[in-house]
Amino acid sequence: MAHKLTPFITAAQIAERNAELGREISRSYQGESSLVCICVLKGAFLFFADIIRRIDREIEIDFVRLASYGSATSRSEDIVFSKDLEIAIEGKDVLVIEDIVDTGHSMDFLLHVLRRRNPKSLKICALIDKHERREKAVTVDFAGFKLNDGFIVGYGLDYDERYRELDGIYELSNES
Ligand code: 5GP
Ligand code: MG
Ligand code: MG
Repeated sequence: MAHKLTPFITAAQIAERNAELGREISRSYQGESSLVCICVLKGAFLFFADIIRRIDREIEIDFVRLASYGSATSRSEDIVFSKDLEIAIEGKDVLVIEDIVDTGHSMDFLLHVLRRRNPKSLKICALIDKHERREKAVTVDFAGFKLNDGFIVGYGLDYDERYRELDGIYELSNES
């Protein structure tokens, strides 16, 4: 079936919001020690690249990738790292940068794993916060945009590995 892409957030709107988020993040970490920014692959890669260049302080970057197995609807118990961090985060401020927090299962898993490594602080920045769909108590500290329902693609977000390269965000539906 063919897909219909309806423009949802333009590249200009994303850029404007990223600049604001960067200022918020910079303010909240002012004067503190080492900040590690973690990109959750693959979906966050463009957002991550844009946000880290808006943070006005010295940072370290690293990448993780999560994989879920078992049921299609992921539960935290079914999630594993398919790529772990390479740098140590003990005693450091850590900011996880994710594309979308939806039910919260993926982020809940990631936060549990990272907390066991004793970071000084642990916060979340997400491009999209689908807060009304939460099944786990995960709070996004820095949210780009809020969304209630619908499936979106573009600006790093895929449908079956397609559409990640689009510079805006689109709502995906089936052509009727
Ligand atoms: P959660 O574990 O919070 O339910 O969902 C985690 C992941 O599902 C998100 O990080 C994202 O990769 C994917 N996801 C959730 N909603 C959407 C959406 O609307 N579009 C796309 N492309 N991925 C989504
Ligand atoms: Mg994701
Ligand atoms: Mg995906």
